[in-house]
Amino acid sequence: MFEYSSVIHVHSKYSDGSGEIPEISRYANEVGVDIVLMTDHNTLRPLRDGLEGWYGSTLVLIGTEINDQKNQNHYLAFGIKNTFDNRLSAAEYVKRVKEEGGIGFIAHPFEKRNHMKEHPPYPWTDWTTDDYDGIEIWNHMSEWMEGLTEQNKYQRFVHPLKTVERPNEESIKLWDKKALERRVVGIAGVDAHAYKQNVFGFFEVEIFPYKVLFKSLRTNILLEQPLIREPDKLEHNKKLVYEALRGGRCYITNFYHADSKGFRFFAEADGKVFLMGESIPSKIKEIRLRVNLPEIISEIRLIKNGEHVDSIIGTEALWQIQNKGVYRVEVFIDNNPWIYSNHIRFL
Ligand SMILES: [Zn+2]
Ligand SMILES: [Zn+2]
Repeated sequence: MFEYSSVIHVHSKYSDGSGEIPEISRYANEVGVDIVLMTDHNTLRPLRDGLEGWYGSTLVLIGTEINDQKNQNHYLAFGIKNTFDNRLSAAEYVKRVKEEGGIGFIAHPFEKRNHMKEHPPYPWTDWTTDDYDGIEIWNHMSEWMEGLTEQNKYQRFVHPLKTVERPNEESIKLWDKKALERRVVGIAGVDAHAYKQNVFGFFEVEIFPYKVLFKSLRTNILLEQPLIREPDKLEHNKKLVYEALRGGRCYITNFYHADSKGFRFFAEADGKVFLMGESIPSKIKEIRLRVNLPEIISEIRLIKNGEHVDSIIGTEALWQIQNKGVYRVEVFIDNNPWIYSNHIRFL
């Protein structure tokens, strides 16, 4: 497998971000981000303006963050050519994305934030739909703002990376529950805007520079073939990335703690290998779940149907499993959440 580190959910000047796409890509390049997935609000203009493609060693792909007319229900959509009429309900546009062959993720589904009037929360409300591919279970901006208080705001502005600790608990719960029914892909989003704002009353600060955020939450994607760094291979590369995301061949990592490249979680059964996002046929009686980590001793937690059932300290883990369930792993460095794999379903 070929592993690529991606940053998902980024806004540019095409909507309410403060950076131009070439500038954003340069920052991504500087901190070793392989893929950036842009998501400006309700527009695919950067796609039509030809901004998709390679910027140095970073591949930039253009999706959009759709919301309905009341600015509710934010949805990250990729692989579609046009945006939709914003009078459509969330359930309708989620369906349209699917029908057009795109992929979509519910953004910050349980967002709660009350500190800044100009940035109210935008939780997902339309749960009648079941056509989404995945959920953004960890959103940097939401978590950062959720914990903001009058007392800690200076500290949080100065240390934007230290103050982001763990995915949203309700999102994780929903993700594990839905996984019992079908594959639901978990991703992380940075929700980068680099807002320029007069926060303290006397000087303007940027919350947060793109480059700082690009060192935090990433979604690392595993591909069966490498990306090809040639301009005429854009469609080929795009297809590889989107199919891996759709299939759940990816995991979430907080790059701030360490580079996780080399992490693998897979199952072996019947002489075959099953990757994250895959389902193991129910007739199989026993499977082996394996984890490999880069050379960093960590706590590897096995999560079955949402419950933490075992921990192994080290750089690898192996479990013999007979019981049916949906399995994923979480990896902690010094009690800090570092990696969240996608599920392997054995039902
Ligand atoms: Zn949003
Ligand atoms: Zn956003």
